[in-house]
Amino acid sequence: MNISNHVITDPDESFRDHFSAVNEDGKRNWFYPQKPTGKWHTRRAWFTVGILTLLFATPFIKFNGQPLLLFNVLERKFIIFGIFIGPQDYWLFGLTMLSFMVFILLFTTIFGRLWCGWACPQTVFMEMVFRKIEYAIEGNATKQKLLNKAPWNTEKIVRKTAKYAAFLIVSFLIANLLLSYVLGVDELSKIIREPIADHIPLFGGIIAFTAIFYFNFAWLRDQACTVVCPYGRLQGVLMDRNTINVAYDYERGEPRGKIHKNQERTEGDCINCHQCVAVCPTGIDIRNGLQMECVNCTACIDACDNIMDKVGFEKGLIRYTSENAIVKKTNKLITPRVIGAMAMLVLLWSVLGFMVVSRTDTQTMLLRAPGSQYIENSDRSITNLYTFKIFNKTNQTINPTIRLEGVSGKLIFAGKPNLALDPAGMVEGTVFIVVPAEALKKRKTTLTLSVFQGNEKLEEFETTFIAPEK
Ligand code: SF4
Ligand code: SF4
Repeated sequence: MNISNHVITDPDESFRDHFSAVNEDGKRNWFYPQKPTGKWHTRRAWFTVGILTLLFATPFIKFNGQPLLLFNVLERKFIIFGIFIGPQDYWLFGLTMLSFMVFILLFTTIFGRLWCGWACPQTVFMEMVFRKIEYAIEGNATKQKLLNKAPWNTEKIVRKTAKYAAFLIVSFLIANLLLSYVLGVDELSKIIREPIADHIPLFGGIIAFTAIFYFNFAWLRDQACTVVCPYGRLQGVLMDRNTINVAYDYERGEPRGKIHKNQERTEGDCINCHQCVAVCPTGIDIRNGLQMECVNCTACIDACDNIMDKVGFEKGLIRYTSENAIVKKTNKLITPRVIGAMAMLVLLWSVLGFMVVSRTDTQTMLLRAPGSQYIENSDRSITNLYTFKIFNKTNQTINPTIRLEGVSGKLIFAGKPNLALDPAGMVEGTVFIVVPAEALKKRKTTLTLSVFQGNEKLEEFETTFIAPEK
C-alpha cells in the first residue's frame, strides 16, 4: 500500500511517502489523465453500455407485479430478485447481506478489484460518462490544462458552462435513477406528475442527491475511491499473492531505461515513457506495485500495449496477472482461503435457499389469552380465547381468512373480523376458537390452523387448545 508514515530514504521508494492526490504543499493534485484508447478500453466501453442499460432498465422490470429490485431504506422494505423482504424478515436480510460480504471476500481474493474497474457505478460514471463529456467539450488532457490556466475569455466561459451544465443534467438523471431503486418507478413517476407542493421532501431529496452527485463527479472524482470508499482500503487484507490484478511485470520490465536507436538493449522492456502514469485517473505509477489507489481501470494496460507495439516489444508488460505469476511464473487460483470462503458461501446460500423456499406470505402468532381458561358451552362445545397477530410479508394487500384444519369447529373474532392487511402491514385482535367436546380426547390438544387468501393457502401453524379433563 502506498500510504505510510514510515519515511523512506531510498529514492525508488519515495512514492510511499506521499499520497498521490496531495502535493507537497498539502494541496490537492488535480489529475488530467490522457484519454485512454485500446483493446481494454473498447471492451470496457461495451461493458459500460451493457451495465448502464441494465442499471436504467432494471427499475422498469416487474416480477409478479412488483419491481425486481427495490431498496426502500425509508420504510425498511426491500425486494431482491422479486422476493419481498419486509421488517419481519430481518433474518433474511441479514443473511443476504452476510452472504453478499462473503461473496465480495471470495471475489476480491480471486479477481482483485475487477469490480472497481468494470462495474462500480463510481468508476463507470466517472470514467465512461463524465470523463467522456469532459474530453468531448474541453479536449484531451493537455487542452484541459491549458483551458484551466487560460483567462476567462468567451471560449473558456462557453466550454466550462457547457461542461458543468451537462454534468448537472447527468447528475439529475442519476439522482432519479437512485430514487427509482428506493421508491420504485411507479411511485417516482407519480411524484413527478403531481404538483411539487405535494411532495416537497421528495423533491428536496432529488435536489440534494443531484447536488451530491454533481459534487462527486465534478470535484471529488478519484478521491471518492482513494479517500471515501472503504472497499479500496480493505484490499490489503482481501488480496494475496495469487490475486489477479492489473500489474506491471517488473521481472520483464526492469531495469527500465530509455530506448536508443541503433544500440543493443541491455535494460528490461520498460522504456520509461511514463505513458502508463499519464493515463492513470488516480495519478499513480503502476510500476511501484500494488497500490490502494489503483482502481484496475485498465487504462495503463492499453497505454503500455500501444507503446510496446510502437517499439516492437511483446505486449502485456502491464496486464491482468498475479504476483506469483510474475515471480514464479505460476498461479494458483484455488487456495485454502478461497476454498474456505467457497464453503462458507455454499453453506450460507443453502440456508438462504431453504429459508426462501419455506417462507410463507404471512406470519401468524396465535396465543391463548393470558390467564384465560376454557369455557364449556351448553351445546357441549368448548371455547378458548386467543390473541392473534398476522404480519403480511408481501408487498401486496391481502385479505386473509383463518380456518381450522382436521377438526370441526369455528373461529369467532371479537369486534370487527376484518383482517385486511396492507403491504408489509400487521393486524391484531382477539378470537374465540370453539371446538365440539367429542373432538377433544385430552386436556391439551394441538390444533392446526391455516391462513388462506381466497383458496390459496398462505401459511399453516399450530396452537394449543385446553379442554376439561375426561
Ligand atoms: S494504475 Fe492503471 S489500472 Fe490502476 S488506476 Fe491507474 S491506470 Fe487504472
Ligand atoms: S507505459 Fe509501459 S513502457 Fe512506458 S513507462 Fe509505463 S510500463 Fe514502462
